[in-house]
Amino acid sequence: MMKVNGYAAQSAKAALVPYSFERREVGDNDVLVEIQYCGICHTDIHQVGDEWGGSTFPMVPGHEITGIISKTGPKVTRYKIGDRVGVGCFVNSCRKCDACKKNLEQYCTDGMVTTYNGTEKDGTVTHGGYSNRIVVDENYVLRIPDSLPLDKAAPLLCAGITLYSPLMHWNAGPGKKVAIIGLGGIGHMGVKIAHALGAEVTVLSHSLKKQEDGKKLGAYYFYATSDPETFEKLKGRFDLIINTVSADLDWNQYLELLALDGSMIVVGIPEKQTSVGAFPLVAGRRSLSGSLIGGIKETQEMLDFCAKNNIASEIELIPIQKVNDAYKRVLNSDVRYRFVIDIKSLEQK
Ligand code: NAP
Ligand code: ZN
Ligand code: ZN
Repeated sequence: MMKVNGYAAQSAKAALVPYSFERREVGDNDVLVEIQYCGICHTDIHQVGDEWGGSTFPMVPGHEITGIISKTGPKVTRYKIGDRVGVGCFVNSCRKCDACKKNLEQYCTDGMVTTYNGTEKDGTVTHGGYSNRIVVDENYVLRIPDSLPLDKAAPLLCAGITLYSPLMHWNAGPGKKVAIIGLGGIGHMGVKIAHALGAEVTVLSHSLKKQEDGKKLGAYYFYATSDPETFEKLKGRFDLIINTVSADLDWNQYLELLALDGSMIVVGIPEKQTSVGAFPLVAGRRSLSGSLIGGIKETQEMLDFCAKNNIASEIELIPIQKVNDAYKRVLNSDVRYRFVIDIKSLEQK
């Protein structure tokens, strides 16, 4: 076993504190990644708070990981020491079910092994990227293109793919009117990617505070959802709406903003269940769907797409000692637009 340093929550809703633990030695098909950066996803906050149930502690969160390979197992073929790589939301899956065979490991019917708060096949609890090293099977590792800086690329491993996947699946592109609800970590990546795909992008934010930023990121229109007139003005307008909000919203109100045959895709995962009426769906033959991150193949495609289109995350780089303040700021929608932890700060006292 190898010793690893990180930060963990010891119980639900507890502050994160320094924590040392062990990881497995590098196996035949594994690589060892010296973690350099890890993004803070709102999911980390939901999980530390046990808002979805099933959280186990101590928990070392973090699934937006970038770093450098320092060791490879004897059977590793894709990577070598010194390669710039990323690790996203999962580190294994059954590899046999229909979903895995279609490169959609995130929907593995056996259950993907999540990067943290998950259980490896041998029963070990997984720990994430708020730590200095991680051992991962090479098949679940991504290559970071040379032109992407490792700090700004880290959020692509979750935020980037979470928006890229539904934008591709529902054909966002020229001639399509796309709305993104919530301009946070995953939402701002949606604006950048949808704009790069050629769609007409609108941001629906709870206030106009981020309007200027939204336009710079690639939004053509920007509306405040706190203004009831927004819902009158935009009725029947969008082909695709992606809801990234982490809190409860009245989905019915937003379904009314879809055009004929339009789709609303839920990616934000609030704590409580939401009720949906039949009328907003049957009127206009509208669809309501959900989407979960993306498979390894598509995540690599997304990274290459971002490199080609010069897209990365807008980040605020913080030392790990500030992680608890960063959580508070995310909860207050006070992040522009992703906190990324500089992992070398772990060496500071
Ligand atoms: P985030 O940075 O906190 O962004 C969420 C945004 O939602 C905020 O910036 C804010 O945007 C809006 N918002 C927050 N509270 C609100 C409220 N009370 N009413 C209205 N709007 C509110 O979080 P994130 O990291 O982007 O994650 C967002 C959600 O997606 C989380 O629930 C997370 O667990 C989930 N997620 C899902 C997947 C997936 O695969 N499906 C992957 C990653 C994350 P405005 O200020 O613009 O209104
Ligand atoms: Zn995430
Ligand atoms: Zn599977």
